[in-house]
Amino acid sequence: MIPEKIRLTKNNELLVRWNDNVESSVKLSNLRRNCPCAICNSEQKEQGDKYIPIYTSEQLAIEKISPVGTYAISISWKDGHNTGIYEYKHLRSISKIQEATN
Ligand SMILES: [Zn+2]
Repeated sequence: MIPEKIRLTKNNELLVRWNDNVESSVKLSNLRRNCPCAICNSEQKEQGDKYIPIYTSEQLAIEKISPVGTYAISISWKDGHNTGIYEYKHLRSISKIQEATN
């Protein structure tokens, strides 16, 4: 299960076309909230139930997406946060699956 095509849509979603004929979409706010890096994780854990994700528009805009090995993509956000490496499995689990259109 690997992405064949990744694109950003105008309504701030990351659209992934997978090699098993599935397309998935995830809102950038959701993507950022599920950032798997240690910094974001410890912030959320510390605050527990009180955690409220508050983002600026820069924190919700993607600067760059780069592949990491054969298992993940790394996302650089416009606010400079670039430590999140999204394994494909993780990426797909936080995305909404839809039947591929073409
Ligand atoms: Zn992070």
